[in-house]
Amino acid sequence: MTFASPENTDAPEGAERLDHFMARAAAAYYAARDPFQDFATSPEISQAFGECLGLWAAVTWQAMGRPDPVLLVECGPGRGSLMADALRAIAEMMPDFRVALQVHLVETSPRLREAQAAKLGAAGVTWHEDVGTLPEAPMILLANEFLDALPIRQFIRGADGWRERHVLAGRFVELNSDVALPADAPEGAVCEVNQAALGFAAWLGVRVARHGGAGLLIDYGPAEGGFGDSLQAMRAGQPVDPLSAAGEVDITAHVDFAAVAAAARAAGAVAHGPLPQGVFLQRLGFMTRAAMLARLDPARAQAQLAAAHRLTAPEAMGRLFKALVLCDSSLPIPAGFETA
Ligand code: SAH
Repeated sequence: MTFASPENTDAPEGAERLDHFMARAAAAYYAARDPFQDFATSPEISQAFGECLGLWAAVTWQAMGRPDPVLLVECGPGRGSLMADALRAIAEMMPDFRVALQVHLVETSPRLREAQAAKLGAAGVTWHEDVGTLPEAPMILLANEFLDALPIRQFIRGADGWRERHVLAGRFVELNSDVALPADAPEGAVCEVNQAALGFAAWLGVRVARHGGAGLLIDYGPAEGGFGDSLQAMRAGQPVDPLSAAGEVDITAHVDFAAVAAAARAAGAVAHGPLPQGVFLQRLGFMTRAAMLARLDPARAQAQLAAAHRLTAPEAMGRLFKALVLCDSSLPIPAGFETA
């Protein structure tokens, strides 16, 4: 496929390609609003989520041969809760890893950087606008609900071929496209391409192949790609029109895990999964930890158990959310992925 096509020159005045619209809307949204009023993420629902991911990182570090220093990177760290929970668990269970690791956060929103500094303490944390400035070193990378926030392009199949969706005054307009997409799609089919996510996966693939390491990506979307419109927006926990109020609503799209894995493989990495989040977390001992938290704080026991159910039950977040690992080929199968 080629994606090098420039902005359509026949576009009516003011029409904006969907990925450009989405990038602008997401940047404005994360800069100005507290996203956690609009949706709840796993690390905000249960502290056991970040703790289990921290222990996953510790086991991965051992499998890498305990490199020192090692980068512990998080992309899109939100309020910093996942990293805080992970670091606490790591310090307790594998202090050598805590000493060897350097925390690097990739975050574009100044407002969320402040929240992360408040939670983690600015000392010992390095922030990046983009993965491009991360040091060249062995790395363990975590990202929860990061890829879904990256901008997508959408193409819709017309009678004469594919047309690309643009946004004009809160509505879609479809313009001719020279992008090569599958020829055998039915009329009306929608094809989504997340170039930013594919570029990120290719970068990660090169990095872990060159310096060693692994990336654990958790997000929502189907295991196998296909046609369909997954663009969505949330406000105060309710779905809203994604084109309506740019910058005021959380706009995301499903992650095409098969395409992300393929991009990393093409760059030299090995992919494990995707595995349903519920299966992955249970294999990491998440339910045992949640039960322990419930026993430690009887007043919040019901809430702890309800949170654990929400993250793991197939009808809640346990199946739609998936875990994918992209790692260097010398590593053994990552914890949790033994029988994918
Ligand atoms: N991982 C957190 C937050 C998810 S929300 C959690 O699970 O709670 C998405 C996060 O990605 C926010 O921190 C947002 O500011 C960040 N983000 C969105 N687009 C980004 C980009 N292009 N580069 C870096 N960070 C981005």
